[in-house]
Amino acid sequence: MMEEADKCHIVMYPSPGRGHLMSLVELALSLLRHHSCLSVTVLISSPPHLLPSITPYISSVSSTTPSIAFRHLPSVSLPPSLSPAPTAFSDDPAMYFEHARLNNPNLHQALSELLSASKPSQKPKALVVDFFYGSGAEVAAALRLPAYYYFPSGMNPLAAFLYLPTLHKLTDTSFKDLDGNVDIPGVPSIPAKHMPSRMLDRSSRIYGHFLETSMRLAGSAGLISNTFEALEPRAVKVISEGLCVPDGQTPPVYCIGPLVAANDHISGQDCLSWLDSQPSRSVLFMTFGSMGVFSSKQLRDIAHALERSGVRFLWVVRNPPPDDEVWRNLAIKPEDDPGMDAILPRGFTERTKDRGLVLKSWAPQVAVLSHDSVGGFVSHCGWNSVMEAVCTGVPMIVWPLYAEHRLIRAYLAGEMKLVLSVAETAGGFVTTDELAGRITALMCSEKGSQVRERVAEMRNAAREALSEGGSSRAAMAKLVDSFKSGMM
Ligand code: UDP
Repeated sequence: MMEEADKCHIVMYPSPGRGHLMSLVELALSLLRHHSCLSVTVLISSPPHLLPSITPYISSVSSTTPSIAFRHLPSVSLPPSLSPAPTAFSDDPAMYFEHARLNNPNLHQALSELLSASKPSQKPKALVVDFFYGSGAEVAAALRLPAYYYFPSGMNPLAAFLYLPTLHKLTDTSFKDLDGNVDIPGVPSIPAKHMPSRMLDRSSRIYGHFLETSMRLAGSAGLISNTFEALEPRAVKVISEGLCVPDGQTPPVYCIGPLVAANDHISGQDCLSWLDSQPSRSVLFMTFGSMGVFSSKQLRDIAHALERSGVRFLWVVRNPPPDDEVWRNLAIKPEDDPGMDAILPRGFTERTKDRGLVLKSWAPQVAVLSHDSVGGFVSHCGWNSVMEAVCTGVPMIVWPLYAEHRLIRAYLAGEMKLVLSVAETAGGFVTTDELAGRITALMCSEKGSQVRERVAEMRNAAREALSEGGSSRAAMAKLVDSFKSGMM
């Protein structure tokens, strides 16, 4: 029997949206697997229109893991000026920051109730907040509860966020208007215009949110990141030595990854049967996170590149954005479905039907990457996708699109030589020649084999990190000790 005094209750506070919730619950599950002294309450603040996408997941976790309790906060509405359409919510991180602030009174109420539990072991010892819900840390501070940040990306982007207040003081020009490179301790030198996209314009509201959150990170009880030390040794060392926060303290950093949450039940299971009929490691998989969309011109060039390279492929295609020419040309509204044949080159599906499969919108990525027939992955460099490719040992071509993708690319391609990368034009366009060349290099050349070997080494390092005595397991143990100590 465990002593009451050994038990430790913590609260996790994800921002709305399935991906963020799953990430934090995955963290909880991973901690619980090795530390049965823990119990976790997850506070749900998702607005009503997002609930259908998370309720089945919550039910399945609740039924298998009684140590995780879910508690819904009362719903709050964003002012209409910030939320032109309810579905826009999940695409815009500025709204997460605003939503978090509006939710703070509800968070205060929920934490106060939990803290008033009669048994000391049921009183929360810590709050773990999602990066985008950072203002929740103010509520924790008011209640004298230590707040830890869960940073869902790697150490290289974390270094950039921690160093942002310093960069902010060094210049009053926006990164988008700066020529030359930005030097951040522990991170490859990158062109200023390749900084995380939401940091580019310092007059924007979102830049202000990021700056504020970056300052808060440094004042927290700890920073938890979904990475592992062997993947980003330089950034881990430099952050831990305090070089990214020259004017203050750096909290302890816990690299507890890789955490991989399976998104697999959503749709597209048929593609797994198709993969069963393909030769081992022959298929190139191409999908671009939850938000990657391309113009119809770019989609046609991707299709031409796939035809020219001659490789087998599984390609997830989404409709072009509402301002694309395709809607004008077809004289239909962006909410109407133009059909694949109207977007892709004439006859493409027919010509490639023996070696390719095009899926609409979404594939069960983790299951696809785990399939033996998949031999390469074209990805936008989203951190979850990087972790999933590393864990399954699938070599990547990276094509950064938004957020901190260019910074991650600079590290993975430039410094680690762990991935191949496409070269974009200044407008972000990737030509048929460029993409076809990279695909052939990855799938059919010695260079591709070297990348495959490097990724396999990293997959082994990831397994080691998560095994008994590994760095991520040690970081989890330290984190749990820190929760138990209740130190601010
Ligand atoms: N994903 C998926 N199928 C798709 C595209 C994405 O299952 O067709 C999942 C993917 O496995 C990953 C997440 O969605 O877990 C995307 O996260 P990531 O950090 O890579 O990119 P983001 O969407 O945050 O830009």
